[in-house]
This record gives sequence, C-alpha cells and structure tokens, in this order.
Amino acid sequence: MSRPIPEPDRYAPATVVVHAGRPDRVPDAPLSVPPVLASTFVEGGPLGYARTGNPTWTALEEVLGALEGGRALAFGSGMAAVAAVLDRLPPGAAVVAPWSPYGGVSRLLDQLRSARGVHVRRVDVADTEQTVAAMDGAALLWVESPTNPQLAVADLPVLFAAARERGLTSCADNTFATPLNQRPLDLGADVVVHSVTKYLAGHSDLVLGAAISRDDVIYEQLLENRIYRGAIPGPLETWIALRGVRTLHLRLERAQQNAAVLAVRLADHPRVVRLTYPGRPEDPGHARAAEQMRGFGAMIAFQPDGDAGYADRVCRATRLWVHATSLGGVESSLERRRRWAEESPTVPANLIRLSVGIEDVEDLWADLAGALDQAALP
Ligand SMILES: *Cc1c(COP(=O)(O)O)cnc(C)c1O
Repeated sequence: MSRPIPEPDRYAPATVVVHAGRPDRVPDAPLSVPPVLASTFVEGGPLGYARTGNPTWTALEEVLGALEGGRALAFGSGMAAVAAVLDRLPPGAAVVAPWSPYGGVSRLLDQLRSARGVHVRRVDVADTEQTVAAMDGAALLWVESPTNPQLAVADLPVLFAAARERGLTSCADNTFATPLNQRPLDLGADVVVHSVTKYLAGHSDLVLGAAISRDDVIYEQLLENRIYRGAIPGPLETWIALRGVRTLHLRLERAQQNAAVLAVRLADHPRVVRLTYPGRPEDPGHARAAEQMRGFGAMIAFQPDGDAGYADRVCRATRLWVHATSLGGVESSLERRRRWAEESPTVPANLIRLSVGIEDVEDLWADLAGALDQAALP
C-alpha cells in the first residue's frame, strides 16, 4: 500500500520527511496512507492478523527508517520500544547506562536488576574514559546524547566503536536530537529508539514509540517481541504521528532558532546562574555537538538564582509557557525535573528544563523573563 521512498540517500532529510511512506502513485490513489482500522486481513498476504503488521504502521516506519538510515518498527510507546530492546538482555547481563537517563528507562533498569539480576553500571556518558572503562564484560551500552535533562554531549562515534570492539550492543535514545539533527546508526550504534510522542509527532496529542536498526537479527528480534508481547501502536495514533512528522523539518528549524536566541538571553539574565545549551560556543558540549550533530536542538536546562521553591514559582508564573512534563511539542513548556521522585539525585534540585516551541520568540522571552522577575518578588 505504501512504498519506500526511492533512493532515500539521494534526498535531503527535509525532502525525505515529506515524501517517504506515501502510497503507490497509481490513478486515484490518495496522497497519504489512511488509518487502516482492521484486526484481521484476508488470507494470502504477509499480514493476516493486525498484531503482526498494519499498513499505517508501515508508512510511518518507512519515514522513520529512511530518516535514521535503518529499518524501523513502530511501538505503542517510547517505553515499549525501550523495553523491547532491554528484553534482549540475558539474565545476569551487565548494562552500561547514564546516571540520569529518561526516568522511565531508569525505573525499568531497576526492575530488571531485581527481576532478572541485570547489573546496571551507571556512568557519566559525557565522560568517555569512564564510560569505556565500564564496558568490559557488559552486554549493552545505553546512551542518550544530549542527555536528559542536563544536555551533556557524549562522544558517540568513540563510544559506539569501543562498544563494538568489546562485543557490546549499543543503543541510542535519539528522542532529544531527532534524526534530522543526529543519526546514531551512521555514528556506529546498533539500535536507535525514539519516543515518537515528542518531536517526531510533535503536537502533544498522542503516545507512540519506535526502534530502528540495520542489523537483521536485531530487527527480527524486536519484531517478534512486538508481535508476542503485543505492545503495538493504534492505527489512529500512527496516522496522526505520520501527519505530524511531515512538518518535522520546519518545526525543528523554528524551535531551535528560538532556543538559540533564548539561550543567549537567559545566560545573561541576572537571575540565571547556570545554563546548558550545546548550541552556545562556550558550552562544554559544543565542540562535540558541532562534530556529530547537524543542529543543536531546542532543549535548554538552566538553574535560576534561588532554591527549588523559587524554580517552582518560576514554572507557575508563566502564562504562555506551559507548566508540564514531556517535550517536543509545537508549544513551549517547562518544568523543574527534580519534582519527580524518579529523577536522578545528580540533577540539581532547582534545574528547570525548557522545551522550546515554535511560537514568536519575543513573546516567549517576555513571558519567561517576566516569570523570573515575578517569582523573585517577596
Ligand atoms: C518520553 C521519553 C521516553 C519514553 O517515551 P514514551 O513515549 O513516553 O513512552 C524515552 N526516552 C526519552 C528521552 C523521552 O523523552
């Protein structure tokens, strides 16, 4: 029903994101694959039953596969894709993982430790020496870069090469960067996972995930996991995500332009003591990010001049910025990450994470600067 974009490597990502996963161009075919609502398909084809596959999933998978440079599988959530990758670990295996990966990943790793005796070796993934030193005898390297929520940048080509040499499978959670800014499979990773919920779908209206790999064995294992664990996406959500991803290039471009402006102004603001955004030349992650990323993304982390209470008041004082968790929507949002019990204690208590959206940058600045001042009033 849909066809892979011919020669995806020939086209720029902005073109791929628009043209991949479209129906065959035959007379009167629709331009977009519709949501296919079916539990069962007529005998004789590869699908048969809708836990095995669905034409709407295939269309989204063609887009994500072409963007990341591998074969994609859509899952019911980002965590379902994460869990499918972690399910491959044998009992007693060791995993090298960041101190503060996405909170859900952290929790799942803790569960695997008690349920399956998986050893979790926590590292600062921006510290290459420390991360490589933890790899000996491990089965899996788990990386996020830029990291959540502190936006440190890991040296991905070096880490993936070191993992390969030592026989580890490596998995990159590419949710923050998106495949338009970073392609971990090109940098040497074995698998990429996404919370499609965030930038890829981009409108804060659904939950969806994906895993992408070039390795046929990994791909088949993840496919089998999806079929038999059953963490499948709904066709309607998949179709909404497919519609959302068509504008990924425009949304991201605008959001990261806004982020670049806000990062400079915030860093100069008298009520901000520390700010991380890999796009600023003085940022510790800037040089690495410039090497391995095509853009610096639209996430910013900063610490205001005050305690967690002050940070909470800032988050409550905005009128435009939404005080909410999650990220990657068209609307700007902010939150103090340590309000979550599962957030790592290595994250400062007053750290505020911004997900910069696509609104007018002057409106965003006025609202945020106003909130910093208002929250400081006695
Ligand atoms: C949100 C998120 C996830 C989990 O994805 P869901 O779609 O919420 O299940 C995983 N990793 C990162 C970096 C995320 O931001």
